[in-house]
Amino acid sequence: MDQLGIVLLVGVLIISAWLIIPRIFPHPQMNCTRCEGSGAVDEKWPNPDEPSGWHELKGPCPKCEGKGKVRAA
Ligand SMILES: [Zn+2]
Repeated sequence: MDQLGIVLLVGVLIISAWLIIPRIFPHPQMNCTRCEGSGAVDEKWPNPDEPSGWHELKGPCPKCEGKGKVRAA
């Protein structure tokens, strides 16, 4: 019974550490330069490489996947 208690305690500690450590040492993040932190883009500019002749993109930002933040390099 004591052993089970220790196993449970260690398990809880590992899970707590796993949840808490990223909050103490967050990955450095900066606002996404493509959507400027909004997470969404509304882009349109001429692009001869596209079949329509226009680059058009509206919706979640592809660079930060809609999060608005990217990892600082
Ligand atoms: Zn973005």
